[in-house]
Amino acid sequence: MTGVSGTAGDAGGTASSLARLEQAAAATAVKESFSAGSVIACDRLVRIYTVEGVEIQALQGLDLFIRPGELTAVVGASGSGKSTLLNILSGLDRPTAGQVTVAGHDLLTMKPRERLGYRRKTVGFIWQQTGRNLLSYLTATENVALPMRFAGKTRRFRKTHTDELLEMLGVARCRDRYPGQMSGGEQQCVAIAVALANRPEVLLADEPTGELDTATAAHVFGALRTANAESGVTVLIVTHDHDVSAHVERTIAIRDGRTSTEVLRDGGPDDGTGSGRAEEFAVLDRSGRLQLPREFTTALGLRDRVRLALEPDHVGVWPGTPQQREEKP
Ligand code: ADP
Ligand code: MG
Repeated sequence: MTGVSGTAGDAGGTASSLARLEQAAAATAVKESFSAGSVIACDRLVRIYTVEGVEIQALQGLDLFIRPGELTAVVGASGSGKSTLLNILSGLDRPTAGQVTVAGHDLLTMKPRERLGYRRKTVGFIWQQTGRNLLSYLTATENVALPMRFAGKTRRFRKTHTDELLEMLGVARCRDRYPGQMSGGEQQCVAIAVALANRPEVLLADEPTGELDTATAAHVFGALRTANAESGVTVLIVTHDHDVSAHVERTIAIRDGRTSTEVLRDGGPDDGTGSGRAEEFAVLDRSGRLQLPREFTTALGLRDRVRLALEPDHVGVWPGTPQQREEKP
């Protein structure tokens, strides 16, 4: 900022309109920088549902930043706000407050027409219920080709691309089968092919393995990993299944509608055996807030307020009781 802001006694209109312009420019800069470098950017997202006059805060100021090409899982218990988040990211629902952009689309200000294009081209989704992903009266090939027909692709293109996708996801054998003739795992792999049909920038999966046994789930996670590696699509999986962290580079824990901790796996995802080195971090939001793990707060009886001290290479946290205050060096 330069020093043009209006002071008392300024020549009225010019100075104040300059100040207004500067404020607007600063606001734009903040808006641009919040999502810079991220394909998915959520800033203090809030979603409140009101049921019979009672408010339910499903998202309570959630921050989430995903870079292009990342393979990330958001893990949390039932009711922690995972589906609420994905419904917003998929353009089905709108947040109550906060900011959210996906692949350059501002999901709060998007007009209905842009929303439709966004849902057809920018994002692909896979739902938990296998039956919700595929049309039961179409074969695997027909299901995968359908979104391409809507997008006006030629018959030749549809055929080649469908074959490529089914091959890539390891379900070429299901080509001419109807969903009812496939296993749950096969249906989810075909669903991934459908979601990828129009080459979206982002693939969103809500509990994609929720109805599958562990071995089949590992296979479907493998297919999502392949999709990410081969097509470069950014993949975000939400699930209550902690096993997912063995299959992805980044696992973010969501608790009470907020991201709390994050696990990064060394050298990207491993072979799915969970042998890669992983390190857990707490999430620090843009306002400097972090959530202490419950084990820590109970072990030291931390509540209501704590004392902080800046040390050369770390921050100390002490219980905020007056006695502790005197004992502290
Ligand atoms: P998850 O997918 O992690 O299980 P949800 O996002 O579905 O969690 O739900 C988060 C919270 O919001 C829960 O308390 C749930 O009951 C509530 N909730 C979700 N959808 C609605 C809705 N349409 N109306 C009212 N409350 C809802
Ligand atoms: Mg859910």
